[in-house]
Amino acid sequence: MDAELYLQRAASHCTAQGSRLTPLRRKILQLALAQSGLVKAYQLLHCLQAERGLDNGVVAPPTIYRALDFLVAHGFLHRVDALNAYVVCPHFACEHDGIMLVCDHCGQVQEVDATHSLGSLWQQCHQHGFQPHQRDLVLTGTCQQCQTA
Ligand SMILES: [Zn+2]
Ligand SMILES: [Zn+2]
Repeated sequence: MDAELYLQRAASHCTAQGSRLTPLRRKILQLALAQSGLVKAYQLLHCLQAERGLDNGVVAPPTIYRALDFLVAHGFLHRVDALNAYVVCPHFACEHDGIMLVCDHCGQVQEVDATHSLGSLWQQCHQHGFQPHQRDLVLTGTCQQCQTA
């Protein structure tokens, strides 16, 4: 994934939605793009502090979480509650229900678009009067690379 291109597209996506990719939001998204796989909030915090240096003051965790909420709301990141982490979404502009395939061994994350197969799952939840908290599902397992290693 080309990070620069992604950030450009993300910025115009925000403009189209009447919101703004502020420098902090952009920076956080950029840091998330630089990581492969799962992104943890404390890692982002750490990177930001390191870049700003102590002279420029400390970025408060609530600020980071607010920026992360924005990025999740706009579809750039998926929140993976089960792992207390975030994943960059490569196709943020389209409505989709993704499943995260997370490798236990190397931490690699792949997102598969499961909109069709998940449709019937949500329907069953609905029939049971059950409201899932979040729709980003996670499957843990072993990726192809680790299987052959
Ligand atoms: Zn996605
Ligand atoms: Zn793996």
